[in-house]
Amino acid sequence: EAKRAGKGQIKIFDPAMRLGATTQLEFRSELGSALDNGELRLVYQPLVSLRTGEVTGAEALLRWRHPTRGEVSPAEFIPIAEKSGLIRSIGEWVLNEAMSEAKRWQTRGPRYVSINVSAVQLRTEGFVGVVRDALVRNQLDPAHVLLEVTETVLVSEIESASNVLAELRALGLRIAIDDFGTGYCSLSYLQRFPVDILKIDRQFVDEVDGDAKQSSLAKMILQMSSTLEIATVAEGIERPSQLAALRQFGCDIGQGYLLSRPLEVSVLRERFGIAGGQAVYAAANG
Ligand code: C2E
Ligand code: MG
Ligand code: MG
Ligand code: MG
Repeated sequence: EAKRAGKGQIKIFDPAMRLGATTQLEFRSELGSALDNGELRLVYQPLVSLRTGEVTGAEALLRWRHPTRGEVSPAEFIPIAEKSGLIRSIGEWVLNEAMSEAKRWQTRGPRYVSINVSAVQLRTEGFVGVVRDALVRNQLDPAHVLLEVTETVLVSEIESASNVLAELRALGLRIAIDDFGTGYCSLSYLQRFPVDILKIDRQFVDEVDGDAKQSSLAKMILQMSSTLEIATVAEGIERPSQLAALRQFGCDIGQGYLLSRPLEVSVLRERFGIAGGQAVYAAANG
């Protein structure tokens, strides 16, 4: 116990903490080579229309399979990538990878891909050009792309962020605010931002099937979005009762383990009968 240990034994010399610090440094350098070593991949979680049950889109989610540590969560490595600036090259890879996958979905499968964009990318000079280049390289119609930006970015850098978002929208793609409700975004911000979709954070979706008081925030966000004519996605749906409540309150699109887990590319392609899926591959090889 730090308090009783006195000056000679403060917690900083705790071996567990030293290991923690080493891991951070190691992580950072290993993440630097992860891209070149092919350790990164994208999985895709279906976005489902709550009216028709149809898969309308899919969110690209980054995965890192470390050679010795195994699967590392993006919640762990994205912050490190952001601090070190690596998110710029990783983010560019994500944009290209997700767009080249979406290109294969043109005739069947999800109609659009939803790509997470970090605040660091958004405030990097030339980001709009990076997005435009990726669209051109993949010959992808921008109508098939949605970019997800977290709410905190918008609040802290309202002027610059709204300019960049306007430029991105001028390219023809759509913008979603991710994790909505967690970043103190006010109504006036929403009016000012060129935004197409609100993704209601899991913490509100979690309470949507509760009593009137518990569900009030989700309900309010849904009513407000409807007034502003902004489409809504509910994140993290796990229970049928949440699904029912969200339908009742007029939410447009659902995402969550109840509807589908994030899928490996081969599984997603197989599900939609897109060439390159497991079954097609197996068949082609006899
Ligand atoms: P996010 O963008 O809010 O993504 C949704 C997260 O919720 C994903 O976690 C997804 O797997 C998880 N999820 C989906 N349905 C459920 C559910 O029913 N219950 C629960 N408990 N969780 C659910 P994941 O894949 O671990 O990603 C975590 C975060 O990492 C993402 O949150 C996003 O902020 C970030 N991230 C992931 N991929 C990228 C990327 O390519 N670029 C950037 N900049 N950030 C990324
Ligand atoms: Mg997201
Ligand atoms: Mg989210
Ligand atoms: Mg979230």
